[in-house]
Amino acid sequence: MSRYAAGIDIGGTRTKIGIVELETGTVSKVKVFDTCRESEEQFFISMREALEQCLKQEKLKKSDLSGVGISIGSYVFFDGTIDGMSCFVPFMTEGYPLCSRLEKAFGLPVRADNDVRVIGLAESIYGAGKGYARTLTITLGSGVGIGVCVDQRPFGEEAFCHLAGHVKVRAGGEFPALDQEPCYCGVKGCLESTCSGTSFEKYLKSYYGSDMSNEKFFALTAEGDTEALGHLEWYLDMLAEALNQYIYLYCPDVIILGGGISRGLLPWKGSLEKRLTAKVHYKQRTEIRISSLMEDSGVLGAALLYQV
Ligand SMILES: [Zn+2]
Repeated sequence: MSRYAAGIDIGGTRTKIGIVELETGTVSKVKVFDTCRESEEQFFISMREALEQCLKQEKLKKSDLSGVGISIGSYVFFDGTIDGMSCFVPFMTEGYPLCSRLEKAFGLPVRADNDVRVIGLAESIYGAGKGYARTLTITLGSGVGIGVCVDQRPFGEEAFCHLAGHVKVRAGGEFPALDQEPCYCGVKGCLESTCSGTSFEKYLKSYYGSDMSNEKFFALTAEGDTEALGHLEWYLDMLAEALNQYIYLYCPDVIILGGGISRGLLPWKGSLEKRLTAKVHYKQRTEIRISSLMEDSGVLGAALLYQV
């Protein structure tokens, strides 16, 4: 097995690529380029060129790589096809053979997995989950994603729990700002429509006006603003509703919070931990940690598909 693999994080607007030294988790300088959404042919040309540039920059050859790992916001089936439902690249429709097309373009083996599972893998091997057997990573960004790892491997052959961010945490309908447009999942009052960065900002704007942002809000909580602390309590209660369900479902040793909101939650980690009342057995304890990886965790995790 080679010491290196390439990691590619395909996003709806931008794609990131880097070379990872698998034994240390060192990520090369990451190249970022616009995801070619309109032309399938151009998409593969841009991917191949980006890989070639990265290899040149690192003075490596294609034969130095174990393969190319892919992170994509979609369900990835064991045969390397994807479910286009949540993927934002228009030509990647249901059953799109992503891995085989990329293998043809690169002339290298390709492994792909769901984006949050891949971030969870990076966390479990080189991030906040290092040293824990069972990790659950939850990203609180524009949506809410879940990635479970057991013994530094993604849990299950496929990403069957990646939509667990849609568990119910409240009745639904009580907040016009959050409930005007029902979530695509069909569950009223789901976690994503409550605690994602996008949803929480909508909630805050309904109280403070359109100038409020998550960042400004967490600055207020750090100053001890009473009204802000009241909203924070509500947010932590809602988040804990979901985390307690995850403890019963997946029995994680650690829950790692990532995504845009997680940094604001750092001072309130203890308050959140106190809300974790679910207990699977007397020895079981679930800790909360905040993601320690930087924004290239998708590239790192994708390459780490070659370490599992
Ligand atoms: Zn939902």
